[in-house]
Amino acid sequence: MAPEICPNCGAEVPPKARACPECGADEQTGWSEEARVGGLDLPDENFDYNDFVKREFGGKSVVPRGLHWFWWVVGLVLLVVILTFWLR
Ligand SMILES: [Zn+2]
Repeated sequence: MAPEICPNCGAEVPPKARACPECGADEQTGWSEEARVGGLDLPDENFDYNDFVKREFGGKSVVPRGLHWFWWVVGLVLLVVILTFWLR
């Protein structure tokens, strides 16, 4: 990810540019701080546990929980149908 402003020379970097048009800085030669922190120190420095939990259990698990609810209803209906026939 390229920063909006080149940290090396301060020039504007186009959103999809992979290198600074002014000085030629890029991910490899170093956008400086941002690139290095993002690449190597991410687990220690930028790991936000609360955010991680929110993403893992807030967003994704909505679908599995919906499925569980659905199968509960299906199971209950089946049970009622079976009992209805059984008790006759
Ligand atoms: Zn630059």
